[in-house]
Amino acid sequence: MAIIEEIESTGSRRRLRALSPSTLEPIGEFDCATAEDVKLAVERARKAQSDWARRSFDERAAVLYRLLDQFVSCQDEIIDAVVQETGKARAEAISMEIYAPCDALTYYAKNAKKILKPQKRRIHGMLGLMKKLRVIYEPLGVVGLITPWNGPVALAVVPMAQALMAGNAIVHKPSEVTPFSALLVKQFTEAADFPPDLYQVVQGDGHTGAALVEAGVDKISFTGSVNTGRLVAEACGRQLIPCTMELGGKDAMIVCADADLDRAAEGAVLGSCMNTGHYCCGTERVYAVGEIYDAFVDKVVERTRALRQSDTGETDVGAVFWDRQLEIIESHVNDAKAKGATIHLGGQRNPKLKGLYFEPTVVTGLTHDMDLMTKETFGPIVSIMRVQDEAEAIRLANDSEYGLNGNVWTGDSEKAQRIAEKIETGGVCINDMAITYGIHEAPFGGVKASGVGKVNSATGLKGYCHEKPIASDRRGKGKIQGGYPYTKKSEEGLQKLIRFWWGTPLGRFFS
Ligand code: NAD
Repeated sequence: MAIIEEIESTGSRRRLRALSPSTLEPIGEFDCATAEDVKLAVERARKAQSDWARRSFDERAAVLYRLLDQFVSCQDEIIDAVVQETGKARAEAISMEIYAPCDALTYYAKNAKKILKPQKRRIHGMLGLMKKLRVIYEPLGVVGLITPWNGPVALAVVPMAQALMAGNAIVHKPSEVTPFSALLVKQFTEAADFPPDLYQVVQGDGHTGAALVEAGVDKISFTGSVNTGRLVAEACGRQLIPCTMELGGKDAMIVCADADLDRAAEGAVLGSCMNTGHYCCGTERVYAVGEIYDAFVDKVVERTRALRQSDTGETDVGAVFWDRQLEIIESHVNDAKAKGATIHLGGQRNPKLKGLYFEPTVVTGLTHDMDLMTKETFGPIVSIMRVQDEAEAIRLANDSEYGLNGNVWTGDSEKAQRIAEKIETGGVCINDMAITYGIHEAPFGGVKASGVGKVNSATGLKGYCHEKPIASDRRGKGKIQGGYPYTKKSEEGLQKLIRFWWGTPLGRFFS
C-alpha cells in the first residue's frame, strides 16, 4: 500500500494522492509544481526579497514574532495536521513540530541583529597601520529550501527563521510525503501578515525539487538522504551556488562500565524509538562494554516492552511515516535475523494495527556485516553490540560512512570529553541522546557522508549571508603604497622592510 501515489490528473500538472500512514485512509490530493511554476515562484520571491532586505532587523523580527504567535495559539491545528499525515505520537508532534519552531523563531528573531551587525575588525601587522576593515553581512537573495518528511514543520521553520532574519526570501519544496503540514505553515505566514511571496511553497516530489535547484536560486538549504544530497550538491556545484547538505546518519551510542545504567537504558530506548526512529540523529547503534552488557540489555528490553503503540488514544511509538521506509526497516531487520542476530522484542510489523506500524524492537548479537549496523535504518530499533572495552567501542563507532552525531554515557566527565573528541562525527552529547539540533548556540552539521556545511547558531545564520569585507585607508591620502613605477630602490626598500619586520620579533609581536 503506497502512502503517496500518482493519480490521474485532469489538469496539466502531475497529481498525487496521500494516505494517512496510521489509518491508510486518503487524506488529500495535490498538484506537483512544474519547472515553470517553480521558476515563476523564484522570480516573485526575488521581488519580495529586495524590499525585505531593506527592512531593519527589528522589523524582520516583528514579522517572525507574529508567526510565533500563530504557533503558540494554533497548537491543536499543527498537532492534528502532523499526526494525520505522519502518524507520529502526539507528544512528538508537540516537542518537534511546535516547541522546536517556537524556540528557533524566538532565538533568531532576538539574536540575529547582534550576530549579523557590521563588525570592525583590527587588521594585524604592518597593513593594520594603514588600513581599517569593516565586515558586513548581506543577504544572499532567494533561498531554495528542500526538506524531508520526518520533521515536516521543524525542518522547514528552523532554517526559515535563519534565512529570513538574514534578509532572504524562501521558496520551499517540502517532502511529497508531508505536503499538508507545509501548507499549514504557509497559512500561518499569511495569518502573520508576511509580505507577499516572501515565503512560498512549491509542492511535489523529486522532479519539483530538482527544478528548484535549477530555478536560479542563490542558495540551496537541503535536508534529506545521502543519495539525493549528492545529486543536489552536484547540481549546486555545477551552478556554483552555495548549499548546505544535512544528510543521513548512523549515530553511535557508547555505554561505559561506569555509566548510570538506568539513565543509559532510557536514553537508548528514547534515542532509538523517538519519532518512530525517524530522527536523523537517532541512536542507530549501541556499543555497550562487556562488564555491564547483560544488565544494560535487560534494562533496555524491560523499557522497550513498556512502550505503547496504538492508532487511537495515547501512544509512545507512532506509525512508520512512509511505506518505503517500512520496507527498508523490514529488510534490515530480516538481514540481521538471517545472519544470526537475536531479536528480543518486536522485529515485525504490528499485527494488531491496520496502519504502517513496526513494533519497538531490541536486537543483539550484531556484527558490522549486517545492514542494521551499517546502513541508515530510520526505524524504532534498539541495536546493541557487546564490546570488550571503550577502545573497541570508539573503533566501531568510527567504522561508518556516516558521521552526524553520537553520544557517550559515563560517570566520569573527563573521560566523556576524551571519548567525545575521538568520535568522528558532527556533534556529540554526553549522558543524553542527541539533542544538539535543538541547541541554537551549537553549529549543526555532519562529517563524512552525513553532510556538508553547518546550519543553526551564528555559523548557520551567517551561512545565509554574503560576509563582505570592506577595507579602507586610515588616512586615505597621498601615494598608494607599493604602486607604480617599480624601481630598484622600491624593491630594495621592500626587502629591507621584510628583514626588519619578520627577521626580528617585531612581526610576530604585531600579528
Ligand atoms: P530524500 O532525500 O528522499 O528527500 C528529501 C527531499 O528532497 C524531499 O523533499 C524530496 O522530494 C526531495 N528530492 C528528491 N529527489 C530530489 C532531487 N533529485 N532533487 C532535489 N530534491 C529532491 O529524503 P527523505 O526520505 O525525505 O528524508 C529522510 C532522510 O533525511 C534521512 O536520511 C534522514 O537522516 C535525513 N535527515 C537529515 C537531517 C539532518 O539534519 N542531517 C534531518 C532530518 C532528516
